[in-house]
Amino acid sequence: MPGKILIVDDSLLIRKVTTQIYSKQGYVTVEATDGREALKILDESFKDIMLIITDWNMPNMNGYELLVQIKKNKKLCHIPIIVATTETEKGSINKALKAGAADYIIKPFSAHELLKTTANYIITQ
Ligand SMILES: [Mg+2]
Repeated sequence: MPGKILIVDDSLLIRKVTTQIYSKQGYVTVEATDGREALKILDESFKDIMLIITDWNMPNMNGYELLVQIKKNKKLCHIPIIVATTETEKGSINKALKAGAADYIIKPFSAHELLKTTANYIITQ
């Protein structure tokens, strides 16, 4: 059974669009509205998650804080994280990569861009 993709974004639209792109390819996604919710999901079912795509700006716990929490957790630190950021937040890219993000993607992104950026991190069995 292939793993699931965790999509973390406070925008319902972004979560919907991202989920749609992946479900068309046959992948299962799990959605979280902020870093706190993402950590709760990871705590309960980290073994099911093969990839995390996280927004940068979110209430309660942002993408950076989530990244730091995941990277310092031995159970979670192996899961690749892609940071989704906007053109205006480009300064966040270096910060994200330094903190251990596997890659980044600029929003708004096309289905092709998303699949291309994340292809290396998707495990198919
Ligand atoms: Mg946001």
